[in-house]
Amino acid sequence: MNNFGYKQASNIDDAVTLVAASEKTSFIAGGTNLIDLWKYNITNPAELIDINHLNELSNIEQLENGGLRLGAGVKNADTAYHPIVEQKYPLLSKAILAGASAQIRNMATNGGNLLQRTRCYYFYDPEVPCNKRNPGSGCPAKDGYNRMHAILGTSEQCIAVFPSDMCVALAALDAVVNVSGPEGARSIPFKEFHRLPGDRPDLDNNLKKNELITSIDLPEKGFEGNYSYLKLRDRHSYAFALVSVATTFTLDGSIISDARIALGGVAHQPWRSFEAEQFLEGKTASEENFALAADLILKGAKGFGDNDFKIKLAKKAIIRNCLMALRPETQLPGAQPAA
Ligand SMILES: Cc1cc2nc3c(=O)[nH]c(=O)nc-3n(C[C@H](O)[C@H](O)[C@H](O)COP(=O)(O)OP(=O)(O)OC[C@H]3O[C@@H](n4cnc5c(N)ncnc54)[C@H](O)[C@@H]3O)c2cc1C
Repeated sequence: MNNFGYKQASNIDDAVTLVAASEKTSFIAGGTNLIDLWKYNITNPAELIDINHLNELSNIEQLENGGLRLGAGVKNADTAYHPIVEQKYPLLSKAILAGASAQIRNMATNGGNLLQRTRCYYFYDPEVPCNKRNPGSGCPAKDGYNRMHAILGTSEQCIAVFPSDMCVALAALDAVVNVSGPEGARSIPFKEFHRLPGDRPDLDNNLKKNELITSIDLPEKGFEGNYSYLKLRDRHSYAFALVSVATTFTLDGSIISDARIALGGVAHQPWRSFEAEQFLEGKTASEENFALAADLILKGAKGFGDNDFKIKLAKKAIIRNCLMALRPETQLPGAQPAA
């Protein structure tokens, strides 16, 4: 490993100024992704700006509009087990706890979770081309081993998936990401935060250079009545999603008045289909309608060989998770999975 500098930021402005000092300076939060990338020689910062001591990033607080603000520096575990998150935003709590391991969730921060990079094997191997790591070099995943790769929103240049669980729930909840940078503070709606690869697969999100994520706002509506997070993976724990689904409903009897369905493990960003959600609104909450919604969500899905199975798996997962959201008691710890 190369020598590197290390500074602790004392407040948000200080962090932004310090990180802008050179091209090869990087924020470090929990370090659970950054250090991995460094060990694999995918990144090589000359200086780290430690943001773990910023009080402004370390709280969870209620907002005047009834929502909840999650500090970017709050650990994933502290967020998942926060009493207001557990009671009012159980979908988010479930999604965070489906990710990684207890040790990693104790280190990982909310801001870092949004910025974790893909787990594409080719991205992690500096000996092979990868348009995300080295723009213009090619994408061996398209014709290579691509079991974990994307089926939606892919481009000629990249078929990597964004691996977060937490972000799938944040997408369904319509969260907002607050950032501060050299040009001041701004708020980014969650659906505009992550990007599809297009012809710039090196960009994962729409954060501008040297911007610091300060917090994530959850709207007042938490969907604590009907929600479910389903993660399908090769091992029951400590594995990234092949397909995951976050579903929430507001029901008027058996009629759906508000539906949210977000998918993880299938695209370069958490995947939502507003067409499918609108289709469900005003309809009966039935398996038949969930299957029709799944077809709308997966419209245009395309496999690359090894990952063809994901299209069928995603359809089944969507239907099953919608049914589970009708019986949120199946989400409680120790509950049996829905039939
Ligand atoms: C073995 C393993 C298994 C995992 N399994 C899962 C899983 O199943 N599901 C899942 O969702 N995740 C999983 N993860 C990923 C884990 O959730 C992320 O590594 C973690 O959330 C990153 O947070 P961090 O605070 O450690 O970020 P860091 O590693 O410190 O930083 C990551 C990146 O974000 C930048 N950064 C951090 N905070 C900010 C900020 N506030 N503003 C601007 N930039 C910032 C850093 O500069 C860096 O580029 C796994 C990780 C490991 C190592």
